[in-house]
Amino acid sequence: MKCSNCSRDAIITVKWKEKSYCEEHFKNYFLGQVRKIIDKYGVKGEVAVAISGGKDSSAMLEALTHFREIELRPFYIDLGIEDYSMKLKDIAKKLTESYGLPLDIIDLQKEYGKGVSELSEKSKGAPCSVCGTVKRYLMNRYAHEISADYLATGHNLSDMVTFALNNLINVQLSSFRGIKPVLPGDQKFNLVSRFRPLYFLRDRETLVYVLSNNIPFSQDECPLSSGAPTLKLKSWVMRLEDYNPRALLNLLNSFSKIEEKMEIKDGELRKCEVCGYATSTRVCKFCRLLRRKTH
Ligand SMILES: [Zn+2]
Ligand SMILES: [Zn+2]
Repeated sequence: MKCSNCSRDAIITVKWKEKSYCEEHFKNYFLGQVRKIIDKYGVKGEVAVAISGGKDSSAMLEALTHFREIELRPFYIDLGIEDYSMKLKDIAKKLTESYGLPLDIIDLQKEYGKGVSELSEKSKGAPCSVCGTVKRYLMNRYAHEISADYLATGHNLSDMVTFALNNLINVQLSSFRGIKPVLPGDQKFNLVSRFRPLYFLRDRETLVYVLSNNIPFSQDECPLSSGAPTLKLKSWVMRLEDYNPRALLNLLNSFSKIEEKMEIKDGELRKCEVCGYATSTRVCKFCRLLRRKTH
């Protein structure tokens, strides 16, 4: 199969575009999808980039190095999940070194006394939800502490659709909000603006991107997440485009429209009494998980 733009062999077919691309033209397409968001929302300045060692955040970091209006501050959260976290940390280091960028490391165990395995045992919560709470909290906190203009995360189109569908399936309409490429923050609540550079790119596209550009990444699955229901939902979501190549894009578009029609209640956010970061309850989920107390 040939590239739709030149005479070279194609490495991927992008169905919704009805095009096949060689390495170079796929890279143009990929960066173009990131550029769309940067231009539309005027993203610029200092961006804290959450690196996990997985394919998406590795692809995101490489992609963002192509945009001069952005200053990159990559960081890695060591969740203390035994060998898995160690291996991913090494990949994150290798990745950032290859672009001459320093890597900040937040060590959950060292800084807060407990790793994710221990926290999920203690709280009897599912490891993935404990992990999600910890990551969301520490990512925002890091970005706020370094006064970054944005916090960039590696969620791709397939992740966003899975997330939204999962919320609909569980009738969790409040967390259904915020399905946008860029979400404005709120300084009053120490909430940093969110930026999802891979919002328009599929799971398979980020995989082909890291492979074709020799970007360091790991395909290891988290040992605590095996059999997580969202993984099954995601593999189902990834097949939707066989039915309609625009299925994922159109779903997100519909979700956005539903979200715009949702009534937004004022005063839902408040400051955690322990740590001062945004929460909807008196003490935030992270502080409750760590059983931190008001002094
Ligand atoms: Zn080409
Ligand atoms: Zn708190």
